[in-house]
Amino acid sequence: LQGYVGFANLPNQVHRKSVKKGFNFTVMVVGESGLGKSTLVNTLFNAPLYPAKEHAPLSEESPKTVDIQVLSTDIEENGVRLKLNVVDTPGFGDFINNEQSWKPILDTIESRFDAYLDQENRVNRSKISDTRVNACLYFIAPTGHSLKALDIEFMKRLHKKVNLIPVIAKSDTMTNEEIAAFKERILLDIAHHDIKIYHAQHYDCDDIETINETKDVMSKIPFAIVGSDKAVETSDGRVVRGRKYPWGVIEVDNEDHCDFVKLRQMLIRTHMEELREFTNDIHYENYRTEKLIAMGY
Ligand code: GDP
Ligand code: MG
Repeated sequence: LQGYVGFANLPNQVHRKSVKKGFNFTVMVVGESGLGKSTLVNTLFNAPLYPAKEHAPLSEESPKTVDIQVLSTDIEENGVRLKLNVVDTPGFGDFINNEQSWKPILDTIESRFDAYLDQENRVNRSKISDTRVNACLYFIAPTGHSLKALDIEFMKRLHKKVNLIPVIAKSDTMTNEEIAAFKERILLDIAHHDIKIYHAQHYDCDDIETINETKDVMSKIPFAIVGSDKAVETSDGRVVRGRKYPWGVIEVDNEDHCDFVKLRQMLIRTHMEELREFTNDIHYENYRTEKLIAMGY
């Protein structure tokens, strides 16, 4: 499993479309500092994306991400080339004044739209590089309470620019009952504040298996995730990626323990192409239109 991502198993039609050129997929992680964003990035893509020297086991003392950091890796599986980019953002929430802490994140998303727009306007458009953000994982602290004002502010700033996917960070610190109640609470808050999160569609699909898969994935949002890039031993002697507690091990890759597998499947396998389509057809198109109007066209 180590190093294997699984995008070569994309549905056939997508596979064919993307196989020749190779393609970009860019995920951004956003949320308060210390919620496990950098850890999840490593966990998500299996192969450590961080430079070796920084890949020392994370600890409470591990350096905080201070700038927006972009990590890329080229992966090839069964003749499919994928350039996977992860935008790791500094945590916010540590400052006395968090006003406008969303700005550098929004700027990053928009400057990537601008870069794409510039290339589209060129005479020679044969070599467009697409660095647009295809999905934004928004990390929610595992408090069990309603969303914080800052979370709402952030999500409202971002939801029209990017496919927003809320996740419950460090869900190993909550019981299953607490998670279920918290998910419900979060979805109510999101609806109440009119925040539009990513909603999988698969309109053009009449394959019952795909429809059920989509329903299943959607039913997990906000994904309750656990990140760990360390191997631990379970009581029955298996070595797994997980977090160890006196009462046992929470396994990252076990669907009964958390939603990590579902999240990863959605991003890398079942909904990658749709996330790219929404980025282009909805978010980028809105941005472009607004920009043209602002310029007086
Ligand atoms: P970031 O500031 O959001 O990038 O957070 P980090 O990835 O640097 O993690 C902060 C701390 O939380 C580290 O000590 C991690 O080992 C720990 N951590 C990361 N993910 C999890 C998780 O899923 N559960 C628990 N309990 N701790 C985690
Ligand atoms: Mg970090």
